Amino acid sequence: MIDPNRLMEDLLDKGAEYCDIRKEEWDRMSVTLKDGEIDKISQGGEEGAIVRVLYKNGWGCVGTSNLDDIKEASERALSMAKSSDEFKNEETGLAETEIQKDDVKMPMDENPLDVDTEEKISLVRDLEDKINRDFVSSTEVRYGETVVEKEITTSEGTQVMMEIPRVITYLIITGESDTIQRATEGAGGTGGYELTEKAYEKVDVVTERLKKLLEADTPPSGSLPLIMDPSLAGVFVHEAFGHAAEGDLLSSGNSCLKGKLGEKVAADGVNIKDDPTFKGYGQFPYDDEGTKAKNRVLVKDGVLNDFILDRESAWKLDMEPNGGARAEDFRVKPLVRMSNTIIEPGDLKFEELIEKVDKGIYAKSSSGGQVSTAEGTFQFNAQEGYLIEDGEIVKPLRDVSFNGFTLETLQNITGISDDFEAGIGHCGKGQTASVSHGGPHMLISDVTVGGRE
Ligand SMILES: [Zn+2]
Repeated sequence: MIDPNRLMEDLLDKGAEYCDIRKEEWDRMSVTLKDGEIDKISQGGEEGAIVRVLYKNGWGCVGTSNLDDIKEASERALSMAKSSDEFKNEETGLAETEIQKDDVKMPMDENPLDVDTEEKISLVRDLEDKINRDFVSSTEVRYGETVVEKEITTSEGTQVMMEIPRVITYLIITGESDTIQRATEGAGGTGGYELTEKAYEKVDVVTERLKKLLEADTPPSGSLPLIMDPSLAGVFVHEAFGHAAEGDLLSSGNSCLKGKLGEKVAADGVNIKDDPTFKGYGQFPYDDEGTKAKNRVLVKDGVLNDFILDRESAWKLDMEPNGGARAEDFRVKPLVRMSNTIIEPGDLKFEELIEKVDKGIYAKSSSGGQVSTAEGTFQFNAQEGYLIEDGEIVKPLRDVSFNGFTLETLQNITGISDDFEAGIGHCGKGQTASVSHGGPHMLISDVTVGGRE
């Protein structure tokens, strides 16, 4: 490949304000075991690069999987930027970020690329063997790994190289009583093959969950107190709050948090962060613009404190970029994305939260939902639920769903436990990003609970 610096000099000579080149080399591997049979094994590597050019107020972005074509890609990116500028009636720019020179390899004990495929097949078989088949009618166990090497070079002088390994395992089981019920759990993170150990802890969690679901009742409906478990609390802050804190949605007027910086948006004692330096599935040392990753304290003691920002949204909002730019791979430009979104633990015991509830719901783990960041509304489905009566858990529930207004709900957090757990997920926003979300148990005084539609 031609030296990126030479290529960018040429683009600047032709009038570009700014350009960057992100070169990536990917190794991917996955195994899926369905009902004891290997359903799919895929393994492969690929490399490519993307050139991003800013010309006046227009962006051009061209990726290629043939590194010999990078000069042509850079020329196409520049002409795209020029024509995009002609149709732009809004000014844009990039907030300043520190120039970085670095070469980072994220730590791992055992490189997944050094582990035989046979061992990965044994892993999914072994996990499946540990699932109690008495009430399980079908199983699916997945293992997946990615190792990416990136090199980000900007026309301002940043040159960052990094290697990021990620490993995940998923367990999906279904069973049948009067209805079909499904339970899922995932484990993994940023690091090496050693992270697969965590999957063994999830076997009992997922089978216990299915067992409860098969004998569960449907929930009461109406306005009720609800306790989220750490997994659901994490997904809630990611989906309902985290997306609304993304700089691009804020600068385009699609967030209920617009103009609320410094205002009280949650109850006292609520602290929310999005932290790419936290040891989770969304960990990285630099973002895809070469800005150093840093912890973003989004809510500090109930007050809206920061947003997640790339350089362009930071420019538009007159703030400082904080490492919020992430791209799925070398084919696409970075967008503002979350990393590891966390609500910090409080000082109550889980039992104390339960004791506070006369009649309500204890909901565990998410099974999807919908959010409107602009209107600030949400609807979530829990995988597992329990009825709480007179401060005690009385019976399992299924098809628990609840909805409300994000900001009202954050104000209605009346108890936060002192425990903590983080889970893994894949966030979709046109592109997929690996993320973690975590938190303690969290009591909401009042949400609208209903059966799943
Ligand atoms: Zn998301």
